[in-house]
Amino acid sequence: MSTAPVLRSLAPRAIAAFLVLIAVRTEAQSRAPLPADLIVTNARVYTADEARPLAEAFAVRDGRVVFVGSKSEAAVLKGANTRTVDAGGRTVIPGMVDAHAHFSGLAQTLRAVDLTGTHSYDEVIARVLERAKATPKGTWILGRGWDQNAWGDTRFPSHEKLSAALPDHPVLLTRVDGHADLVNTSAMRLAGLNIATVDPSGGKVIRDAQNAPTGVLIDNAKDLVERKIPVPTAMEARSALKDAVNVIHRWGLTGVHDAGASRSAIDMFEQMAQAGELNLRLYVMISDDSAAIAHYTSIGPRSALYNGQVWVRAIKLYADGAMGSRGAALLEPYADDPNNAGLLLSAPAHIREVAERALKSGFQVNTHAIGDRGNRVVLDAYEAALRTVPTADHRFRVEHAQILNYDDIPRFAQLGVIPSMQASHQTSDMYWIGKRLGSTRLLGAYAWRSLINSGVVIPNGSDFPVEQVNPLISFHAAIARQDANDWPAGGWLPEQRMTREEALRSMTLWPAYAAFQEKDMGSLTVGKYADFVLLDQDIMRVPVELVLRTKVMSTYVGGKEVYHATPNN
Ligand SMILES: [Zn+2]
Repeated sequence: MSTAPVLRSLAPRAIAAFLVLIAVRTEAQSRAPLPADLIVTNARVYTADEARPLAEAFAVRDGRVVFVGSKSEAAVLKGANTRTVDAGGRTVIPGMVDAHAHFSGLAQTLRAVDLTGTHSYDEVIARVLERAKATPKGTWILGRGWDQNAWGDTRFPSHEKLSAALPDHPVLLTRVDGHADLVNTSAMRLAGLNIATVDPSGGKVIRDAQNAPTGVLIDNAKDLVERKIPVPTAMEARSALKDAVNVIHRWGLTGVHDAGASRSAIDMFEQMAQAGELNLRLYVMISDDSAAIAHYTSIGPRSALYNGQVWVRAIKLYADGAMGSRGAALLEPYADDPNNAGLLLSAPAHIREVAERALKSGFQVNTHAIGDRGNRVVLDAYEAALRTVPTADHRFRVEHAQILNYDDIPRFAQLGVIPSMQASHQTSDMYWIGKRLGSTRLLGAYAWRSLINSGVVIPNGSDFPVEQVNPLISFHAAIARQDANDWPAGGWLPEQRMTREEALRSMTLWPAYAAFQEKDMGSLTVGKYADFVLLDQDIMRVPVELVLRTKVMSTYVGGKEVYHATPNN
């Protein structure tokens, strides 16, 4: 035997041994894992991940979750520079996401006179007068939040009292739902609004017996006066948005789906994200403006811009108005206004055209529809667009989907359309919605259980500033169908309630799905963004009547603390 064959036969063995050595080394390296940046331990973690719903601890590195499990396993990831948060047995949930809200609207509301909670027209006027004292004559005063349904006299107000009290300031007061404005004489004069003004399409100027405007403007008619309000400077707008971000974080929200933004607003969001002023997962819906839609669809869908802060891949349309101002489009007239069946704000053909264009360019369409006719018009338009441009994973949405004809409920699952609903609207509307609709139509009102059983998910939200920012109001409404005073006993049409697990998913995982973000967001799962909230009590176990007493202790976005409660808040 020569040496050559021996070498030859040894050679493969040596190579194999060498490879084993490398493999062992690599394995050893992975056994001593990189230390985490942050470990949250001694917590009751509701992950919203079905594979592991509950955990004691989790770890974060580079803004993402790298471990979820037991305290002892998490401790292995502790390094010299690891920060540890001992939750003291308290509850942690994934960062909550408001799937339908108005980011700029909240910013403006923080600067406007707050009219929420007023119980009479006089109280509204008193609050505006208070602001007028500190406002130079001739300067606009804006307010938001009046609701005549909460007054002794639930008819719409007329401007005379307001005009007499405020002769020197143009005043515009937006109704709580954003679908009606009340203006005074000074504002009407500046806008040239008078007896000769013609109602715009999709809008209504409320008039008195002499046909003169009463000062109340519905839906598209609001613009007759709103367009005369001076636009805030970019600096003013940005500083108001920064205040809005702080309010959002304070309530445990780490993400917002902004239900309609102009191109200039989106530009500003992008600038803020770049400058580190956003710290929020902002899923933007582009307002229905043909130039803006053309601009963004030509660029194509954009996701997780600026390190996971801005998404621009959805378009917001309006089918109809709202229930409180009787602008929601109904199949049969309002029970308390037999000559009125509401308003369609967009032509059905327009919804279909935008939907087709969106399908071709990879965009999602999210259309506001409240009345049963509004909802049917949207489902029909989506169905027609999908026939022309078949698309498997479109995730088109109906925003609100409040009043559904019973026959239309299964169509959401059949078409793959997501009903994006705000549980807090149910508890705000339940006092008077029966008067508007009569009892039969209530069977399809805020029909969460029927929809979930049909096979869809329901992303939840607040529609702030229409409702308060606190997402636990919608969590509570979803599981109780009762107001903050536990009214009515047993809940309003309680068979439509969500379970707590569903309600938690409706503000975490389901909004993520409704925004094509479920690979990165929506649960505390290895690989996803480390967005989470520490609560002072266990919302999954406390009695229902205590849920609204829950306090957010801290809010984290991408493993970074963006809010920490002080003893005073
Ligand atoms: Zn809205």
